[in-house]
Amino acid sequence: MHKSYDYLVVGAGPAGMSAAIEASKAGLSVLVLDQAANAGGQIYRNLGLSSDQQTKLLGPDYVAGKPLLARFMAAKCDYQPSVQVWHIETHELGFAVAALVGGESITFITSHLLLANGAMERPMAIAGWHKPGVMTAGAGQILLKSSALLPKQVVLAGSGPLLLLLAQQYRAAGVTITALLDTTPVSNYWHAMPWLVAGLTTPMQLFKGLWLTLVQRFKVPYISGVSHLEVLGNEQVSGVRYTVAGKAYELECRLVMLHQGLVAETQMAQLLGCAQQWNHTQQGWQIQTDVTGQTSVFGVQVAGDSGIIGGAYLAQLEGRVAGITRVKSASVAGSWRSNMVNVWLLFRVKQLRWARGLIDRLYRPAAWLSKPTADTIVCRCEQVSAAAISAIAHNGCAGVNQLKRFTRAGMGACQGRQCGSNLAYLVADAQQRSVSEVEPLSVRPPLSPINLGQLARRPRL
Ligand SMILES: Cc1cc2nc3c(=O)[nH]c(=O)nc-3n(C[C@H](O)[C@H](O)[C@H](O)COP(=O)(O)OP(=O)(O)OC[C@H]3O[C@@H](n4cnc5c(N)ncnc54)[C@H](O)[C@@H]3O)c2cc1C
Repeated sequence: MHKSYDYLVVGAGPAGMSAAIEASKAGLSVLVLDQAANAGGQIYRNLGLSSDQQTKLLGPDYVAGKPLLARFMAAKCDYQPSVQVWHIETHELGFAVAALVGGESITFITSHLLLANGAMERPMAIAGWHKPGVMTAGAGQILLKSSALLPKQVVLAGSGPLLLLLAQQYRAAGVTITALLDTTPVSNYWHAMPWLVAGLTTPMQLFKGLWLTLVQRFKVPYISGVSHLEVLGNEQVSGVRYTVAGKAYELECRLVMLHQGLVAETQMAQLLGCAQQWNHTQQGWQIQTDVTGQTSVFGVQVAGDSGIIGGAYLAQLEGRVAGITRVKSASVAGSWRSNMVNVWLLFRVKQLRWARGLIDRLYRPAAWLSKPTADTIVCRCEQVSAAAISAIAHNGCAGVNQLKRFTRAGMGACQGRQCGSNLAYLVADAQQRSVSEVEPLSVRPPLSPINLGQLARRPRL
């Protein structure tokens, strides 16, 4: 007989850890599952094990996670690292969560679920992005945080705070940054200007952001106004080509790291049938929730970046709200103090989401990025080009799900996480529709690859 938990949290990032602390404090039985080897999520990855040299390089925002991590490790909850959730389905007691643990599939039962599985980097489908020698800035940072691995020389390209942060971290570590090619459209600065008022509600963050931006401009070879970027090379990267003010340039390099902001990881919630909507400002799909993180499916909450991209501090607050709300729903006596705290947290969540408007507008992806050139391999798993997708879309294909059946785009190992949004942009462009009207790829298990042996040995519930 499987043990049933009161609360199962997927993700031990700032959101998941905060929720688990609140719920276990009130006496609920809580299980936290995370695919990483150590708690902390993306921002505080490996924080508990980092050397002094690593923490110095990664900066004060990284070390700031230590108190939260310590509270989480001391909390009376079950925490299982290195566990990959690959399927979730409804069950007579609530939900059955299937996960790979040490190479075998184990099922966990819970009455309530919190999906705090974070975000992923927005796929930046440019010509040549499938070549060996191209990776994302986030992947570069993961190597730095988890294994202290650094490249000798790199070109950083794209837009967004993580790109600037990585430039700063690499510079501090002595990596040669050949160029930082900034694709942020100049018009974004004008659109973001009125939102400076919102940014003033978090003055420290605003100051840090401005400082980070200015420092990179003067300390690394910084090229702004970049468009129509493409990666050159046959078997592997030999350089990049880009345009600035209508003039084309080329730069030799062996390693390119791309970044174009973050998008919420919605597949897990989609699998459970949670309603979602297109977020025009963040340019991505978002799970519909109320301010406490409750989704359209009873018993399923979402918090942190898997709901709305908002950064680590907001994720932490949303996690606390979700945990307190779960405690209330269990009719476990909440003190007047926790009720007051919740009112304050809800106020801060709303305020910080509003303040986020500044970053969202400043780093909104350039329009040319949603129109990959004909030779761009949009679906890297199945090697499907933009030309092939556009041709079918022009022929009246109903949407990305039908397109998937015709071309196999979205059918590979990543299950459409890397190409889904670009398929939708191409269909929207060919059919003169808004991307928000193109139904997203439907999600089916497994969420991540699992072999037939593991599937066959899965115990019956
Ligand atoms: C690659 C990357 C690097 C980042 N680096 C920084 C940074 O240096 N500084 C900064 O301010 N912000 C950074 N961010 C943004 C930062 O992640 C968020 O602001 C913040 O960490 C969000 O917290 P969260 O708890 O919502 O999600 P996360 O911190 O992302 O935590 C989600 C957790 O869910 C787990 N998970 C996901 N899917 C599964 C699954 N199927 N099974 C089991 N576990 C799963 C992940 O392992 C992860 O630990 C980064 C984001 C990314 C994508």
